Amino acid sequence: MKFTPYWLDTAPQGPDRSRTDIGGHVDVAIVGAGLTGLSAALHLARKGANVHVFEKETVGWGASGRNGGMATTGLSIGFRDAVSRYGLDIAKAYLLAYHNAVDTVEKVISDEGIDCDFARTGKLNLASRPAHLDGMRKTAEMLSGLGFEHRLVGRNELRAEIGSDKFHGAMVDARSAGLHVGKFTKGLAEAAVRAGATIHEKAPVEQFRGLGGTKHELVTARGTVRADQVLVATSGYTGRPFRWQQVRIAPVGSFIIVTEPLGEDACDELLPTRRMASTSKNLLNYFRITPDHRLLFGGRARFTMSNPQSDEKCGRILQRGMTEFFPQLANARVDYCWGGLVDMSMDRMVHAGERDGLFYSLGYSGHGVQMATHMGKQMAEYLNGTVTANPWRDLKFNRIPGHFGPPWFLPFAGAFYKFKDLVK
Ligand SMILES: Cc1cc2nc3c(=O)[nH]c(=O)nc-3n(C[C@H](O)[C@H](O)[C@H](O)COP(=O)(O)OP(=O)(O)OC[C@H]3O[C@@H](n4cnc5c(N)ncnc54)[C@H](O)[C@@H]3O)c2cc1C
Repeated sequence: MKFTPYWLDTAPQGPDRSRTDIGGHVDVAIVGAGLTGLSAALHLARKGANVHVFEKETVGWGASGRNGGMATTGLSIGFRDAVSRYGLDIAKAYLLAYHNAVDTVEKVISDEGIDCDFARTGKLNLASRPAHLDGMRKTAEMLSGLGFEHRLVGRNELRAEIGSDKFHGAMVDARSAGLHVGKFTKGLAEAAVRAGATIHEKAPVEQFRGLGGTKHELVTARGTVRADQVLVATSGYTGRPFRWQQVRIAPVGSFIIVTEPLGEDACDELLPTRRMASTSKNLLNYFRITPDHRLLFGGRARFTMSNPQSDEKCGRILQRGMTEFFPQLANARVDYCWGGLVDMSMDRMVHAGERDGLFYSLGYSGHGVQMATHMGKQMAEYLNGTVTANPWRDLKFNRIPGHFGPPWFLPFAGAFYKFKDLVK
C-alpha cells in the first residue's frame, strides 16, 4: 500500500522548482501553491502582474492534491441552515457562488486545455436515516422553487444509482462534477507559469514585515522578497507567521483510501452513474470511482491530525466502512491511503478579504476544489480593487474560541459530532 495521494502519484510530475532565485520586488506574492494560490497566480498573471508563488513543499502538496476530486455545487452547510442563518436572498447568492465555482473550474480547464478527466456526472447525497430523506425532500422542494433542480430518489429506485442497500434514498444534483485533481492542480501550475507567473517550491514563508499599506517584505527559507500585495492561500496548513488567520481555522484531518483497479463492470455495479457520492451524517463518508476504475472512499475516520501512524489507523477504519456499504469489496486490495487537513472555519463558511494589509482566502470547510479555484480568480479581481468580486465580503471571520495554535480540541469536537449522529 502506498501512503501517498493517488492523485499526485498518477499525475505527470512537474519540473523541480526548488532552486529558483528569490529576491527583489514583485507585484504580488502568493503564499501557498494549492488551487487558491495557483488560480490567483494564473488570473493575476493574465492581467500582466508580476506574480510569485511561494510554496513550503511542492505544487499541490496541501489539500489540493489530497482531496476526493469532487467539484460539487452545495455549500458546506445545508441550504436550509443557510436560509435560517442568512435569509433566503443571501443564502441563494452563496449557493450561486458554488454553481459559478464549478463553472470556473470547467472554464479554466477548457481555456487552458488541461487534461484532467473533468465530467459533470452529478452528485448523490445519500440518506443514512429515513428522517434525512425527509429533510432532503424539503431541501429539494425549496431549491427547485429557486430554479436549482434537484431530483429525489426513493429507496426502491436507489439500485439504479448505487450497489448498496445501506441507504434510505438520495438527492441527486446533476450539475456537480468529478475530476482528476492531481492532473488539474499540476495543469493549473503549468498554466500560471505560461501566463508569466513564477512558482518557488521548498520556499516556506517564515516571517513577514509590513512596509505600509499592502506592501510587505516576506522572509522565506531561500531568500527575501518585497511585494506590493500578498495573498495568503494556506488553507488548513496556515501556520505561525499568519497568526490572525491561523486561530480562525481548525485544521481537521480527513482521510482517503483507494482500492486496486476493479474493472469497469464492477464499477458499473457500485456506482453505475459515476456520480460523486456522500452520506448524510455529520461525520460523513464520501466516495467515487476514479478515472481508472478504482473506488476512492474517504471520511473523517478519527478526529486527529494527519500523520503516517494516524493515516494507517484511519485507513483500516475506512476499509471497514467501505465494506459495510459495499460487502462485495470484502476482498478488494487497498492500494493507497493518505490524509490531509481540511480548513474548517467556525461557521463552516469561506472567509476572504484583507486584514492589516494582507489579503487572504480560507475556510473552504471541505468544499474547496471548486471554491478555491473560483476564489483564486475572484481574489485576482479583489486585489485589483473590485471589492464585489468577493462573494464572502460581508461575513465576520470569528476566532475559534480557545485556539492558540495546536488544535488540542479536535478529539472533543469529534466526540460531539459522533454523539449528534447517534441521536439524529
Ligand atoms: C482529504 C480531503 C478531502 C477533500 N475532498 C474534497 C472534495 O472532494 N471536494 C472539495 O470541494 N473539497 C475537498 N477538500 C477540500 C479541498 O481540497 C480544499 O478546500 C482546497 O484544496 C484548498 O485549496 P487551497 O489552495 O486553499 O489550500 P491547499 O491546497 O491546502 O494549499 C495550501 C498550501 O500552502 C502551503 N503553505 C502553508 N504555509 C505556508 C508558508 N508559510 N509558506 C509557504 N507555503 C505554505 C502548504 O504547503 C500548502 O501546499 C478535501 C480536503 C481534504 C484534506
